[in-house]
Amino acid sequence: IKFNAAAFLTSAPTIKQCPPDIGAEVAFAGRSNAGKSSAINTLTQHKKLARTSKTPGRTQLINFFTLGDENTRLVDLPGYGFAKVPLKTKLEWQKNLAKYLEERESLRGLVLVSDIRHPLTEFDQMMIDWAQQSNMPLHVLLTKADKLKRGPAKNTMLDVTRALKDFQGEVSVQTFSALKRDGLDQLKNRLNEWLSA
Ligand code: GDP
Repeated sequence: IKFNAAAFLTSAPTIKQCPPDIGAEVAFAGRSNAGKSSAINTLTQHKKLARTSKTPGRTQLINFFTLGDENTRLVDLPGYGFAKVPLKTKLEWQKNLAKYLEERESLRGLVLVSDIRHPLTEFDQMMIDWAQQSNMPLHVLLTKADKLKRGPAKNTMLDVTRALKDFQGEVSVQTFSALKRDGLDQLKNRLNEWLSA
């Protein structure tokens, strides 16, 4: 898969406005500030690709990028956290995310980006539950791994792996650093498996 050929395709506020549900795509989710944009930019070797998703007004949209051709896509799912959004908006947003995971036929897997220093937040748990309910393969990317020493990073990875032992279905966990580009090959391998299957 040509990750560095990533190009913005479209933004969709609801599942109805998503591009045609054909081919294969992988989605990235994460609480805001977890490091999702940095991970996507490192993966695609773009400085600002995922910035698109952060422009005000676009933060609640599902953003689609093509990877070489229109039938191979990377999807940036909206995250939230610090934004002061009204509860009604937040619930609407959750409904759309859940619906996307449940109904999107071309979706091959979900990458959940989590700050290694604060793994498995409430947001993460919600995404994990939805992945489980939708039978969606899950890959947890514990990012900002450069913020911890190797030992503690490894231990966090083991803790998270243990916490996911009851996950029914395909699940994997890795450490990652956008800063050091550590774990990039492992991430690419996972995505290649999903997108080429
Ligand atoms: P997003 O809101 O999930 O898209 O998060 P960003 O990618 O914008 O990252 C949030 C903050 O964490 C920014 O200040 C980044 O520079 C920082 N950050 C992201 N990834 C890493 C990483 O791997 N290592 C370090 N040290 N900082 C990171």
